[in-house]
Amino acid sequence: MTKTASILDTFPEYEVTIGMEVHVQLTTKTKIFCSCANVISKDPNTNICNVCAGYPGSLPVLNKDVITCGILAGLATHSTIATICSFDRKHYFYPDLPKGYQITQQYDPICRAGYVPIRLEDGSIKHIHLTRIHIEEDAGKNIHSSMSNESFVDLNRAGTPLLEIVSEPDISSAYETKAYLKALRAIVQHLAICSGNMEEGAFRADTNISVRKKGATELGTKCELKNINSFKFIGDAVEYEIERQIMLLKNGGTVRQETRLWDSKERCSVIMRTKEEAADYRFFEDPDLPHIHISSQEVESIKQSMPEMPFAKFDRFCSQLGLTPYEAEILVEDKDLASYFDQAMLHTQSKQLINWVLRDIMGYLKENKVLLGECKVTPEKLASIMNMVDAGTINGSAAKKIFELVAHTGHDPKELVKEQGLEQIGSVDELEKIVQEVIAQNPTQVEQYKQTRNERMFGFFVGKAMQKTQGKGNPAVFTELFLKLMQ
Ligand SMILES: [Zn+2]
Repeated sequence: MTKTASILDTFPEYEVTIGMEVHVQLTTKTKIFCSCANVISKDPNTNICNVCAGYPGSLPVLNKDVITCGILAGLATHSTIATICSFDRKHYFYPDLPKGYQITQQYDPICRAGYVPIRLEDGSIKHIHLTRIHIEEDAGKNIHSSMSNESFVDLNRAGTPLLEIVSEPDISSAYETKAYLKALRAIVQHLAICSGNMEEGAFRADTNISVRKKGATELGTKCELKNINSFKFIGDAVEYEIERQIMLLKNGGTVRQETRLWDSKERCSVIMRTKEEAADYRFFEDPDLPHIHISSQEVESIKQSMPEMPFAKFDRFCSQLGLTPYEAEILVEDKDLASYFDQAMLHTQSKQLINWVLRDIMGYLKENKVLLGECKVTPEKLASIMNMVDAGTINGSAAKKIFELVAHTGHDPKELVKEQGLEQIGSVDELEKIVQEVIAQNPTQVEQYKQTRNERMFGFFVGKAMQKTQGKGNPAVFTELFLKLMQ
């Protein structure tokens, strides 16, 4: 893999330090502290109760599944799982937070000291360490009307369970930022605890970036990039911010601590607010919620239920199945595609399978806006097509035709081959007769070929022979026969 260009190549005397806070929206059935459904509701304030709306006297009751999600995330990131964790109130006033405080885990989070391995461009592995993973509730949403001079509050999202995954400042380039986020998203998707949908905000990252001269003992002043909703934009935004800070420092300026937003149209970051000092949230332990005791048996039983994690899956695809790192990465980033590939592998040994999955299946889904689960070319059916190609029953172009037909009808590939008369003419005797015919019918070309040994000329003969079989001959066998008979 070639190395991605970065502004740091131009100014090697600088280094960048990046830490991330990622919010992961959990896909539990109900919200974190009440029995309201944990779904996206379009009509405002229709999916709320006294707890969501923060009525005085209403009491939170913890959803146990949220703890399970936290333990899963902790195990998958090699974290230490707390034996006792608790909940704290983080106080601030905002209209979308009617209680006046958010329930979070400030002092005793569910996980500490984990790490996420990422693969660098040279193939080496780096561990991005995690400070902590804690559980918290999401707030509602303020909606500011552009039509009228009014603002509205929608509390549907209030009480949605979140995990916040906080990294150490271990990340040192835009490439690593993206690699870390991709690795983290693949983990929560494989665990099936989060949709990973960045556009809907189900997986969102705040990025803290600071730049300093190499060898400096203190970190530079950091800027925070808020809520960017795609990997590409995060990569662009981080690279832009590194350049902005280096230029400021080079020109004798200072970096101010501020929160910035990424403008993807103008491709630049713009200031949202400056941070003069840390806000005082007056954290204290929530007296309405008991301490949560987590036993080692519970952790062990959750560990037993865990599916294969993306990092291990990548290794298996490369070392056991012979895929390239590029191919393995595409599969690992899409859990459903990876499982499609694995299922197809149960029915075929074909080396061509990966090409068909990445080129034909992905191409078909994209072109026809179909989801993998709705695709009529099931893993078994694709495997059946691959097996017919490998056995020489059909050739490549017939395989494409069968693929299209299966995608439209869902019929059995073998039956379709018979119906369409697409079986390749396999017998060498039969094909040799055709080759002899072609040679006899084109004496001038044969003479020319014998003198020049021109490859394009050779293609002419194979093409003629394929025509005679209506495309059902085996081009490889034809090639061999022509070579033999036109020596
Ligand atoms: Zn509720």
